[in-house]
This record gives sequence, structure tokens and C-alpha cells, in this order.
Amino acid sequence: MDMSNPARSRAAQAGIAAKITRVETLPLRVPLKVPVKIAAGGARPDVEVMLVRLHSDAGVSGVGETQAWRRQGSDATLASLKSAIEGQFAPLIVGRSPFDIAPIMKSMAATSGHSRYAQAPVSDALYDLQGKLLGVPVYQLLGGRCRDKVDSCAVLYLHPGLDATLADADAIFARGFRSFAIKVGVDLKADIANVRALRERFGAEVKLRVDANGGMKFDDAAALLKAIEPYGIDAAEQLLPMWELDAMAELARQSTIPFVADECLSDERDLMEIVRRRAASGIQTKTAKNGGIWHARKLWQIADAAGLRIFPGNHPGTSIATVAVAHLATAWPGELLDGPFTVGLSALGEDIVTEPVRLDGGAVRVTDAPGLGVTLDEEKIRRLRAEV
Ligand SMILES: [Mg+2]
Repeated sequence: MDMSNPARSRAAQAGIAAKITRVETLPLRVPLKVPVKIAAGGARPDVEVMLVRLHSDAGVSGVGETQAWRRQGSDATLASLKSAIEGQFAPLIVGRSPFDIAPIMKSMAATSGHSRYAQAPVSDALYDLQGKLLGVPVYQLLGGRCRDKVDSCAVLYLHPGLDATLADADAIFARGFRSFAIKVGVDLKADIANVRALRERFGAEVKLRVDANGGMKFDDAAALLKAIEPYGIDAAEQLLPMWELDAMAELARQSTIPFVADECLSDERDLMEIVRRRAASGIQTKTAKNGGIWHARKLWQIADAAGLRIFPGNHPGTSIATVAVAHLATAWPGELLDGPFTVGLSALGEDIVTEPVRLDGGAVRVTDAPGLGVTLDEEKIRRLRAEV
């Protein structure tokens, strides 16, 4: 910030003095291009997105995103998110400075336990608002630029047959991705055939990972790992249900394929248990699942200290959740893997910002625009509004 410019300096001072005047929830139903299928639950036609917009008396607002994912680890619905954010959180937020992020996050956790999905959009809206008030990008608030771009991998969902799987993989490859998170866990034979066919199709040029979203039994998971070991698998993610940490640890010791914890990781205590039991050697975090930038950064710090690999991820979401992870990753000084945090950009039929995040191959470059650098498309917000 150029403090030698008196007008700019006064504007920044006014920004620091700003107070939050209103907490607005924007529940949306955003259509998927094609219904996505994973091991847990049926295929879905849309994603339930909850945005939070924090208004300030400086005439500037900040926005953050979560999703009502309603699978292992998440029982939040649009209605429960709205109730938590408007009923429990708003009274703790209105009247405060947007720079009071630590006491605001602490008070939300104190009023509503296990509420990371509801806390996420508040965390990220606070960062967005701070950045907009100061005229700096969020990555700058988080410590500055540590990398030029943030790489991501693509998600290959479950398809009815091998031909459809390969057609989807070809399209993903053509878009520039060289790293696949392959959904598995419904049909063991098909899973093994998919992995083999993908390795044969793309050779050593691509990274292959498998993700069962907690949907497998121990014996099937052990059989899968053994069968796909020869195909150079980079990681096996959450093969077993989220509550089976001991079984995860036992399975991890049987296999040479690195294990990644996803659904079983909500907060810091979960991560300490994963580390203590050596149930995984990597983690995936998500904006919604883990409580936004504020909480995800703590998880990354613990994982880094424990020597775990970090995959920045997301449920399918809009540009807002995507760019929130990109800012966090841009300011991250440690090692990062190409996680699936951009999955929503490929999966959603529409985005809800005026200039959606652009992918270059699998990479995102965050801009120097203030805050998260995104502007809501008000027409789409009205059209995709969900009745809650
Ligand atoms: Mg996963």
C-alpha cells in the first residue's frame, strides 16, 4: 500500500475503522453439467451452495462460500446453514470490525460446535472484506506471494462403463490436466479395469490417484490396493469410512501406496488423531468441510509439521470457494500437491461471478484485485436462488 499518497492513506484508515452492519445469506442451487456420482450416495443434478455476504458501513462487502454437501462428515443442509449463520453467528458479527477475525471465529466455535461448514463462508467473507477495505488481495493478507500459480488435479467421477470413463478422461486430458483423482468404491472389478486402462491410455505422462469417499469395506480396499499397485498410483484417498482410523492405519501399512485422509478430517483434533495413529500420510482439506481459510491454514501447519503431504481440495463449488483456496495456497510457504480444489469449475454448469476463475492447464493464477478478486453476478444469484 502506498502510504505516501494521502488520499489512499485516508481511505485505508477509513477501511480499518469499518464495522460490519449486516450478515446476508444467499442460498443457491447451482446445476451440475452432468450429475456426478461417487461411492457415497446417489448421483446429484446440482450443488447446494450457501454464500455469505458481509456488509460494512464503508459501503464495501465481502463474500464467502460453503456447500451443503450432506455426505460423510457433513450433515449441514441449506436450511441448517442459514439457521446457524443468521441465528447463531450474525449477532456475534454485526457491529464488529472485519479485522476481528480471531475473536469472531472463536465466538462462532464457542456458540456452535462441529460447525466448520457454517463457519467457512464467514471466514472467507471476512478475508475478502479486509482485502477490499485495504485494497490488497487476500494472499497478501496471508503473508504474501510464495508461488506464481497453484496447480490442481481433475476428478474423474464414476461412469456406467469403461468407454464413458475413458471419454471423460480424454476430455480432461485435452483441457490440460495431467493428474487424475479417480473415483472408486462401488464395483471393485470396474475400478481395477479403469485404473489399468487409464495407465495404458496415458502412459507415464499422468498422475493417477484413487478416492473412494469412505465407501469401501476393508477386504475390498486391500484387494484394490494390491491390484492397482503395479500401475504407479500416487495416492489412495479415504478408501474406508471416516470413523475407521485404526483400519486405515492397518491398511496403510499393508500397501506401498500413500494414503490420504479426507472425510475423516474436520478439525485439528481429528488431524492429531490421524497423525498419532499414522492413519494417512497426506491430507485433503476443503473450504466447506474444514471451515475456510482461517481453519484450513491451521490444518496445513499441523500437517506440515507432521510430515504429511497436503492436497488443497474442495467439494464442487463456484469460483468463490475455488479462489479462496488459490489465495491460501499462493501464500503458503511449504510444499503443496496438485489437489482437486478446482473441481467445481469443470463440474458446474454455471458460475455465479462476473469473471469466473480461469484454468491454465490445471493451474490457477490469482490476480492482484482486492480481496478474493471476484464480483457476484447479481442476475445469476437471483435466478439460482434456492427456497429455504
Ligand atoms: Mg476425497
